[in-house]
Amino acid sequence: MTIVEPTAATIVAAAKLLTDGKLVAFPTETVYGLGGDATNERAVAAIFEAKGRPQFNPLISHVLDAGEARRFVRWSDSAERLASRFWPGALTLVLPRANGSAIALLATAGLDTVAIRAPSHPVAQALIREAGRPIAAPSANRSGAISPTRAEHVAESLGARVPMIIDGGPCLVGVESTVLDLSRDAPVLLRPGGISREAIEAVIGRIALSDALPTGDAARRSPGQLASHYAPARPVRLDATTAGADEGLLAFGPDVPSGAMLTFNLSPAGDLAEAAANLFAMMRALDRPGIGRIAVMPIPETGLGLAINDRLRRAAADDGKSDRR
Ligand code: AMP
Ligand code: MG
Repeated sequence: MTIVEPTAATIVAAAKLLTDGKLVAFPTETVYGLGGDATNERAVAAIFEAKGRPQFNPLISHVLDAGEARRFVRWSDSAERLASRFWPGALTLVLPRANGSAIALLATAGLDTVAIRAPSHPVAQALIREAGRPIAAPSANRSGAISPTRAEHVAESLGARVPMIIDGGPCLVGVESTVLDLSRDAPVLLRPGGISREAIEAVIGRIALSDALPTGDAARRSPGQLASHYAPARPVRLDATTAGADEGLLAFGPDVPSGAMLTFNLSPAGDLAEAAANLFAMMRALDRPGIGRIAVMPIPETGLGLAINDRLRRAAADDGKSDRR
């Protein structure tokens, strides 16, 4: 891991890492972000791996401006008014995924909505511009640790798990962005942050607070708990070592039982990062008419396997009953 000053040359080098699917920690005005190419499932899997998160929660995709955001989400009047007032800045908007949106499914944890933000930090902007693509970035710390507001914090927490850290000095805002959900009938504040509720209400009128709005410790422990999660409509059977003729098989590893109606292999080589990158696309592909049930082979409970199994267990527990937005 190297810590570099932001210069024209280091921004080019950092952007090259990103377009190669590698990770770069970079400063934003809120906290340091652990960035990866938001359009690359493998790069997003690498973010979860580096953070050691036992769960997949949706990440914020960072773009330069509203014009770029429109390529990835279904824009709205409220989005336009809020972006004109607060972007670039500490406001994240959750909007419906645009048709053909290039944002990786893993970046949205399989949801049909995308959290998007245009940061104001000049280093973040230079990196997004040079990479020429949206950057998915949660806070640049190991899971459970507090968000880093200095490059040294990132180095202490992530160490060699991140190849490059761009040192842009201390973050000015120092708290996370406000997350506002505009994908429903009425706007809902999902996470309080750098832009106040009052400032937002001055632009679009009254907004609701999420019923489940976490406060204090609960919020820090589980920042992803608010997002409804993706689950297939079909029943899910875990730890499958055989497959029935009415089943779609989500396989893992080289030894795959025969007999399923349709099989997708998360990773024939048994690689957990590859499996994470394929997880949501393959679950969706198996969740279709004609398939009675989705059978899932056992996934090792190590590294990214923890987050993969967490998601599969939820899918098995509430098949079809969860909010599938
Ligand atoms: P972080 O990237 O760590 O700053 O956290 C991102 C925040 O945005 C978390 O609170 C997520 O739950 C929330 N978030 C991201 N994407 C979505 C989404 N599509 N729907 C709802 N909440 C989201
Ligand atoms: Mg965090």
